[in-house]
Order: sequence, then structure tokens, then C-alpha cells
Amino acid sequence: MSAKRDYYEVLGVTKSDSADAIKSQYRKLALKFHPDRNKSPEAAEHFKEISEAYAVLSDSEKKKLYDQYGHAGVEGRYSTEDIFSGARGNFDEVFSNFGSGGFDSIFESLFGRGGGFGGFSRQRGQDLLHEVSVSLDDVFRGKKLDIDVKKNIDCNDCHGSGCAPGTKPETCPSCRGQGQVRVTRNMGFSTFVTVQPCSKCNGEGSFISKPCSACKGSGKTRGTKHLSFDLPAGIDSGDYVINGEGESIPHGPSGDLIIRVRVMPHQHFKRDGADIFYDAKISIVDASLGKTIEVPTLEKPEKIKIEEGTQPNTISKIKGKGLPHMGARGRGDQYVRFVIDIPTKLNKQQKELLEKLGQTFD
Ligand SMILES: [Zn+2]
Ligand SMILES: [Zn+2]
Repeated sequence: MSAKRDYYEVLGVTKSDSADAIKSQYRKLALKFHPDRNKSPEAAEHFKEISEAYAVLSDSEKKKLYDQYGHAGVEGRYSTEDIFSGARGNFDEVFSNFGSGGFDSIFESLFGRGGGFGGFSRQRGQDLLHEVSVSLDDVFRGKKLDIDVKKNIDCNDCHGSGCAPGTKPETCPSCRGQGQVRVTRNMGFSTFVTVQPCSKCNGEGSFISKPCSACKGSGKTRGTKHLSFDLPAGIDSGDYVINGEGESIPHGPSGDLIIRVRVMPHQHFKRDGADIFYDAKISIVDASLGKTIEVPTLEKPEKIKIEEGTQPNTISKIKGKGLPHMGARGRGDQYVRFVIDIPTKLNKQQKELLEKLGQTFD
């Protein structure tokens, strides 16, 4: 790796620039080099560079260390992960009206969830997908979902410990079970203590000397996990993420379970958000003379008035009879469109009556 560039130089700002000036300069550069907007590989690298500079310079404490001791001052005290996650709020501010996700999505796409960028993230289980179709009635009432997810579960023989029966993991002598080792460095007039994962036990604090034969020490076997949760009333088609219920791996966090919901079309109703649309066929007579009719809603039929002289496709609203708003109070409305049914097969008597009626308009 080549020598690290000066953070002020990277952003094109000076030590005396205000926090706002640094923010607006970072925003300008981020817009230019954001990997969603700029597909060249150098752009991604550069985006990392300016983002790291901003992470440090937007944090008054880290900026002070940097101003005093340079890169060594910050690196001696903070891991890359600390640097980025400590500035999470500052990044979210910049990206809030950026047209893309916040901190997590941006840095996950950049550095990858699998790691490879310092200690930014560890190995993580895969995300799992479960697809479910629901009816409009389910959307109206909410639905309990019971699913069986095939994934790695705790081994039955060792209950997830990975140790052969009757044995226990041994405490790592190198870190005395802490999983971490402290490294002290002198920097100028200060002493910095860095905490690093123990390399002997991979940060676990212990290791297995006699692995369980059923799972070969991983503590996991293939199995089925039963999950039960509620799809809230008002839910729409889309992906819903259940954190940590995806694939699990021996050392590291589980992936997420993604519930892909598809709301099936309804025979009579159309849906737009929390509003329901219904076409009511009415006769030319009822459209002309007016009438009170009943129309179906998601619950019981409701009375609705056709005004005298109703024109084709007139829309009438039944307030509060739509779907519940998801996660909020109240309901949408039901809109009824009057579709005028022009008769196509008239008998002789009906034709005569209509002709007579027609003459009265002449
Ligand atoms: Zn086992
Ligand atoms: Zn250790």
C-alpha cells in the first residue's frame, strides 16, 4: 500500500475550514464518486478514501487526534470499523437526500458484508428467501405466518457447542479467554492502547480440543427451524427482512430471512395503497332516476346512493372502508365507480318503451 494521503488534501479542505464547509465539500465529492453513480473501479477506491477522510474530520475528537498526530494518532486508537461506524450519523446526514440508502447500504455495497476491508465486517450467514402469497382478505385482517425454514441449526449431540460429549471448549491460554489482546503503543506524548482479536483462537476466547463427531466441531447441523410471526394488516407486496433468521454459520452472525410477500389480485376489488376500488354496474334506468344500492366492501355490504342523472364512470367514495394503514391508525377509503350497463339484448316490449321515451326527447 502506498503512503496514505493527507485527509485535508483528499477532501480539498483546510484545517481551519468549518464543519459545514467540510461536510458540503465531502457531499460534493461523494456525489461524484459514489459507486452507484460512477462505475469505474478507481471511483470506488476514491470513494473509500474520501469517506474515510470525512469520517475522521467530521468527528471532533478524531479530528483533534489527527491534527495533532496525523494518521498514526487515529489509527493507534481506532480500528477502521470504529472510524466508519463512529461517523454513522454524519454519513446519514449527508446521504439522507441522496436518492440512495443510508450508511449501512452504502458501506455494505462498498466493502461487502463478507469483510475484506479491515475489521469492518465478519463472515456472515447467507440470507434466505421465503415467498408467500396472501389474499386481500389477509391484508385486511393481518395474517399469522407459520413457516419451516431449512437451515443450519444447533447440533443435537453437542447442543451447538461443537465439543464431543463430556468435554468442554478449552480456554485460550494466549488471551486467557478474552478473545482479544491489548497492544500498547507510544505515540508522541501519549500512550495508545489498541485492542485486537486474538490470532490463536480467532477471537473466540476458547478452542475445541475434542470435536463433536456429529457436526465435526462446527456445532451446526442441517435442520428445520419453525418460525411464527404476524404479517401486519395493510401489508403490501414487497420484501420484508427478518434480521438474524437467515442461514447460520459456526463463527459469526446469521444472515437475514427475507419474506417476499405477494398480494394476489382480488376478483372484484383493486387496491392502491390503503384505498380500494370497485366497479358497480348500474342500469341506464338507475343512472337516470337515481337509486340506493348495496355494494360489497371488505366487510359487510354498504348502501350507496346513485344520484339522479349519474354520468358514466362517476366515482363515489365510501369513507374509511378501505384497508388499514400498515403500522398506523385509520383506514383508507373505498371508491365506487358507476359503470353504466347499456343493454345489448332488448325484447320487443322494451324496445317499444325506449322508442317512446326517445320521442319525448325530440
Ligand atoms: Zn455437534
Ligand atoms: Zn485467544
